[in-house]
Amino acid sequence: MNQLPLMRSLTDRDHQVIWHPYTQHKNKLPPIPVVKGRDALLWDDKGNTYIDAISSWWVSIHGHGNPYIAQKIYEQALRLEHVIFTGFTHEPAVLLAERLLPLLPGTFSRVFYSDNGSTAVEVAIKMAIQYWKNVQKTGLEDDGRTGRKKILALHNSYHGDTFGSMSISERSVFTAAFQEYLFEPLFIEAPSSENIDRLRDLLRDQGQEIACFIYEPLLQGAGGMCMYEAAALDQLLEAAKEQGILCIADEVMTGFGRTGKLFAGDYLRQRADIICLSKGLTGGTMAMGVTAATEKVFDAFLSDDRRKTLFHGHSFTANPLACTAALASLDLLQEEGCDRRLRRINEQHSAFAGKLRQYPIVRHVRVLGTVIAFEISVGEDGYINPAGLDLTQRALEKGIYLRPLGNTVYIMPPYCITEKEMDQVYTFLVQYIEGKTASR
Ligand SMILES: *Cc1c(COP(=O)(O)O)cnc(C)c1O
Repeated sequence: MNQLPLMRSLTDRDHQVIWHPYTQHKNKLPPIPVVKGRDALLWDDKGNTYIDAISSWWVSIHGHGNPYIAQKIYEQALRLEHVIFTGFTHEPAVLLAERLLPLLPGTFSRVFYSDNGSTAVEVAIKMAIQYWKNVQKTGLEDDGRTGRKKILALHNSYHGDTFGSMSISERSVFTAAFQEYLFEPLFIEAPSSENIDRLRDLLRDQGQEIACFIYEPLLQGAGGMCMYEAAALDQLLEAAKEQGILCIADEVMTGFGRTGKLFAGDYLRQRADIICLSKGLTGGTMAMGVTAATEKVFDAFLSDDRRKTLFHGHSFTANPLACTAALASLDLLQEEGCDRRLRRINEQHSAFAGKLRQYPIVRHVRVLGTVIAFEISVGEDGYINPAGLDLTQRALEKGIYLRPLGNTVYIMPPYCITEKEMDQVYTFLVQYIEGKTASR
């Protein structure tokens, strides 16, 4: 036998050289080497399979290893893999904008490309702030006394991990180390029928000082899968628009079918001025962000004065491979079967929700589209609650991947997940909850 003496496992090599995201490396469990993905399943190096019940951090809407998207990326890679996007353009970028704009919930007319959800949000905020500089009479020499300086954001929000997007996100364990370097938005509670009058009063008082309002429509993801009412959000948006406030919909997570409609904004009457997209955009295959704006916003940047330019761009802006992947993902989303899958997942979730509500340690069971979430009453609520780590470990042993936010458990599956796979996830959760109930 010809054995190599120094054959180290991938986990050992990883242990030497990798710094993982959102990972405390001290005493951490070794990461699982994934060698293959197909549809809702992931394979590790020992041949075990895992149902990816959270779409790999909410991105893989069509599941893994989709051959249609892969083929399109391959063909595009042979033609043109990348080109600078200032002074040049290309077919995938234009075609994607042409196809995307009419699908968006609003009257958007311009697409600005970037690299991920955080950058899509950064771009949106920069557009909104500079919009007011550009349209003010005092212009760029704003004396600091006039103008709209405030940014309105929601408690429990999550908009990303870069400094600007952290600043407008709920203060939490994620942002604590950076607190003194963050700018301060005006935080309000997510609108509800109870607080909407108070929120409207606030907008009447301070609306003229507010540049923009950013919100995750109907579903606040990383902040704890909080769901809130479309009617109340509509009322808040209406009040904001009356004050001329630019409304920014962060649909990075809710976009592309996640909430049961193509966009969460499709549940609303009021339209945003700017929308941010990423996660599901390329079907979870390539990193890309989109910030789309209305013509009104775009117009404010048109000028003979070059200082009114939006000075923002990334090396990989409008990467042709990513644009091509997004086009292919749209093809799949617009197939007739996709709608049916979204409905079926929603029906299964709803039935499971009824079952979950029978357990006293389960609280706030909620369903929107393909997302179901609930809290389990063990320890304190919040991200630091270790319940999630325990659940993840137990699930992996059963061939299921779940990653609760603290004690908030949620399922956010790829749309191609089978009925049987969904049932396996539900069965695991019931067993887990019954185990916890018995041990109390
Ligand atoms: C994930 C997320 C972001 C940040 O996206 P990244 O691609 O992780 O930078 C922004 N907004 C929302 C609503 C998100 O869920």
